[in-house]
Amino acid sequence: MLRRSLLATPGLLLAAPLRAQAPLPLVASFSILADIAREVGGDRLRIRSIVGPDQDSHGFQPRPSDAEALRGARVVVQNGLGFDNWMRRMREAANWQGRVITATTGIAPIEMDAHHHGHGHSHGGAGNRRVPDPHVWQDARHVGRMAQNIADGLAAADAPNAAGYRERAGAYVARMEALDAWVRAQVATVPAERRRVITSHDAFGYFARSYGVEFLAPQGVSAHSEPSAAQVANLIRQIRERQITAVFMDNVSNPATLNRLATEAGVRIRGRLYADALSRADGPAPNIEAMFRHNLGLMLPAMRGEA
Ligand code: ZN
Repeated sequence: MLRRSLLATPGLLLAAPLRAQAPLPLVASFSILADIAREVGGDRLRIRSIVGPDQDSHGFQPRPSDAEALRGARVVVQNGLGFDNWMRRMREAANWQGRVITATTGIAPIEMDAHHHGHGHSHGGAGNRRVPDPHVWQDARHVGRMAQNIADGLAAADAPNAAGYRERAGAYVARMEALDAWVRAQVATVPAERRRVITSHDAFGYFARSYGVEFLAPQGVSAHSEPSAAQVANLIRQIRERQITAVFMDNVSNPATLNRLATEAGVRIRGRLYADALSRADGPAPNIEAMFRHNLGLMLPAMRGEA
């Protein structure tokens, strides 16, 4: 403070650099987006994830403390594709006017039949209504695209640091491309007819499409939906007939349905995949790269039928 007071024009010399170094407050709707934002923004951002580690974003109910965090933010990162509509409702309720980044912009979604896959709420006889599968982050190249979208939004919100955001996003995209190649190489070590996995809810549609692993789930694209008795019976029949050995819970679904299914089918649950949320920092999937490595590390021996 003494040195500052000795300068002839402290306001001009000091105010701009100090303001430039204050971190930009950003709210992400869930932990996956917070991780990508951290990669792109580094210490330029002060990030808060509304839905935390190991928590379910489907049908999330914001708390007053979440609205408070939103009011203090200048940037919001949301997933879109119906995954986090509660964020839009919260913004509208608060009349929030900052920059909104929709991370999935430009990614062609998988369309699903809302009725067949269960969507967690009633559509009033909407029949075959199609809904987008929101779980795009289970394809590593999509994660790269999300990083670029976040970098574009941050560059617009914080122009003096635009080059830094783009540079960091570019480096992260390269890491995601390497991760994508690694996942493909790992899956290729499993015989094609063994590439089948049962999970709690239908969170791996993009992984399935991109990496050639078939996923079957008793619950639909929302972890809240409940399967019918006929759906459970059909899955049990498939497990037996196709000798499926890779059966996993995920970290956001209630395990009761899968436990019942595994007991009735006479198969062992092989652990817990990270689907819609990361783990805490001291867990096995504190970031997206660790999530892919953890999930593959469990899936590969289980698909092969190893003990
Ligand atoms: Zn989900």
